[in-house]
Amino acid sequence: MNPLSDRILNMSTSATLAMAAKARELRTEGKDIIGLSLGEPDFNTPDFIKDAAIQAINEDYNSYTPVDGYVELKEAIIAKFKRDNNLTYTLPQIVVSTGAKQSLANVAAVMLNKGDEVILPCPYWVSYADIVKLNEGVPLEVKTSIDTDFKITAAQLEAAITPKTKMIWFSSPCNPSGSVYSKTELRALADVLQKHPNIFVVSDEIYEHINFVGGHESMAQFEDMYDRTITVNGVSKAFAMTGWRIGFIGAPAWIARACNKMQGQITSGANCIAQRAVITAMEANPSKVQYMVDEFKKRRDLVLSLLNDIEGFKTNIPEGAFYVFPDVSYYFGKTFRGTTINNATDFSLYLLEHALVATVTGDAFGNPDCIRISYAASQEQIIEAIKRIKESLS
Ligand code: PMP
Ligand code: GLU
Repeated sequence: MNPLSDRILNMSTSATLAMAAKARELRTEGKDIIGLSLGEPDFNTPDFIKDAAIQAINEDYNSYTPVDGYVELKEAIIAKFKRDNNLTYTLPQIVVSTGAKQSLANVAAVMLNKGDEVILPCPYWVSYADIVKLNEGVPLEVKTSIDTDFKITAAQLEAAITPKTKMIWFSSPCNPSGSVYSKTELRALADVLQKHPNIFVVSDEIYEHINFVGGHESMAQFEDMYDRTITVNGVSKAFAMTGWRIGFIGAPAWIARACNKMQGQITSGANCIAQRAVITAMEANPSKVQYMVDEFKKRRDLVLSLLNDIEGFKTNIPEGAFYVFPDVSYYFGKTFRGTTINNATDFSLYLLEHALVATVTGDAFGNPDCIRISYAASQEQIIEAIKRIKESLS
């Protein structure tokens, strides 16, 4: 019998991190792998943020931090929520964590009891389902399709609700589809939830600034949703700070208090130097990082035009984040040198082996017809990768 807990044995490995590790391993074996698997900006953290971190080191910020974050950082986050999202939060409503991933894990741990259902519109970010399951919740996948730009409709939400529904979790801009919910679309979902006052919402807005259509909309903007929405955000994406590990929530104070309590027993407060640096990031006008967004948009257009040239790739037009999520089911059932591609996982592995390009199977995001391609890579790498994909499939 395996002495490990059922908890860990029943958990899937993060497919994004697993693929990135596999690509790294193949590279050390001398294979020239182009990594389009990990959602990680290829930019450096901007100098003005690095300078704030260096200053914090020199000013001897080295002690344990308050569990829910420095007050100065929470104040900067409150000002950011007001400036960018017109959301009003107070200090007891903010919790700073070691990445938005921990923010999500906290929320699941404090909100879910055994058997509580969490609606996950598919495709959803890879870790949602396992974070929910770890906390004995039941992920309830709601399929969307490329025809609705991978967005859940009000009717689908209504149909998915059961007496056991506790929460709905979604990201906008969405990882992996790049879809962005408009205010009208969010309001339509809120109208359904109005009839179900016991359902809570996790609105994951970590790609807020990487939006090519402008006008990011938050679920918590609606008065009737504010008291049951947990707004999750962080600095990994827009500020190219993945390794600094800072995320945060704005939430009803009683939920924030519970997250604070949970975090106090698990990790304590987030890293002191990173928090000081993030104060500077929060205070900066988002226009300071617009150069990255502009570049991501160019790459999106490039990827779409190159993929358009390959038979059997069906794409939506991502309006944010830095992923495309093509439907590749055209290839299922096809055989090459004795290997049959039966699903998206086979397809992604085929690309790794024959094109030397790392992508992630859509299975990990709850959509087995698609693969995720991250375009957080240089234009040269993107051009070369898609050329290789095309050749390997021709
Ligand atoms: N939510 C989404 C939608 C993501 O893509 C990610 C990946 N970074 C996270 C949350 C977690 O971000 P982090 O822990 O790096 O702040
Ligand atoms: N969020 C990124 C992704 O989706 C980083 C990897 C991870 O945290 O799982 O690729």
